[in-house]
Amino acid sequence: MSVLVYTESEQGTFKKTAFEVASYAKAVANQLGTTVTAVAINANDTSALGTYGVDKVLNISNSQLDKFNANAYAAALKQAAESEGAQVVVVSSSADSKYLAPLLAVGLNAGYATNVVAAPSSTSPFTVKRTAFTNKAFENTQINTDVKIVGVSNNAFGLVENSGSASAEEFSPSIPELGVTVESVDKATDKVSIADAEIVVSAGRGLKGPENWGMVEELADVLGAATACSKPVSDLGWRPHSEHVGQTGKPVASNLYIAIGISGAIQHLAGINASKVKVVINTDPEAPFFKAADYGVVGDAFQVVPELIEKLKAFKAQQ
Ligand SMILES: Cc1cc2nc3c(=O)[nH]c(=O)nc-3n(C[C@H](O)[C@H](O)[C@H](O)COP(=O)(O)OP(=O)(O)OC[C@H]3O[C@@H](n4cnc5c(N)ncnc54)[C@H](O)[C@@H]3O)c2cc1C
Repeated sequence: MSVLVYTESEQGTFKKTAFEVASYAKAVANQLGTTVTAVAINANDTSALGTYGVDKVLNISNSQLDKFNANAYAAALKQAAESEGAQVVVVSSSADSKYLAPLLAVGLNAGYATNVVAAPSSTSPFTVKRTAFTNKAFENTQINTDVKIVGVSNNAFGLVENSGSASAEEFSPSIPELGVTVESVDKATDKVSIADAEIVVSAGRGLKGPENWGMVEELADVLGAATACSKPVSDLGWRPHSEHVGQTGKPVASNLYIAIGISGAIQHLAGINASKVKVVINTDPEAPFFKAADYGVVGDAFQVVPELIEKLKAFKAQQ
């Protein structure tokens, strides 16, 4: 009867979203008066999960699951959910989880709500608040199936620490024969990925050309941020497509999003609405981005950004 949560890891280390979905699962378990069981696949050390409300960890160590495979992962999670008698399964909003969750929903005959931003407002009927229309609206959704799958939006619920510790046991699901297998993965970059970044420094066509990205990268380095860009910038080949943010690019749910020389077209804003604090640097005071911004600097990026870097470096040197 416990709440099951899939805690994602990369090369054995939990992603930040793992702790956020665990925190969410704990909130649901409290409402239902039950416990939280996490599924960890090839993770090195699961002890941190207890801090975020997990009571038990099902550890799956299986070389067939070294590389993400939606069918295999969904099969493993289905068996875990069945063995725990889980009523609710919580996953993140990562690309992997959005890929496996529909397969899991079919396997468990479960309803699946994506982009959920808050703990259920009611557990009977089971009602969750989720974003709709590319983050421009919220809707309350009821999941009426016996088993419910909740996909939590990144950075929406946050991390909630508990004083508990989690017990761990080995779990060995049978993995179906895989029609498609990933042989190798070549990452486009070793830098912080946009999806996981706490801070994103993003720039647009206002920067005039790829030769001017040095200051964007420097600002990102000082802040420990990921770099991103608008669509035309990646279309022009100034930056890799992996950095393209927006409706047709990647969504960003960072704590801080700094937009430099980006006009704030609706398709760009669609990808960054979930970010908490938005800072805009633009020469045009009428740029639409200012309407969506928490802080705005009307100014030339070529003056403002180097000054910002200097000030941040001086500030860090004092710490
Ligand atoms: C179907 C569809 C899907 C789309 N999907 C996306 C998407 O996913 N992501 C996306 O980004 N776009 C998307 N677009 C494109 C979108 O409509 C805009 O055209 C695009 O976002 C504009 O990019 P930009 O702001 O970098 O460039 P521009 O619109 O050219 O804006 C540049 C800005 O830089 C400012 N500027 C100029 N010089 C300076 C300076 N020296 N210092 C500071 N500021 C300066 C200007 O005032 C201006 O506001 C999509 C469009 C369509 C039709």
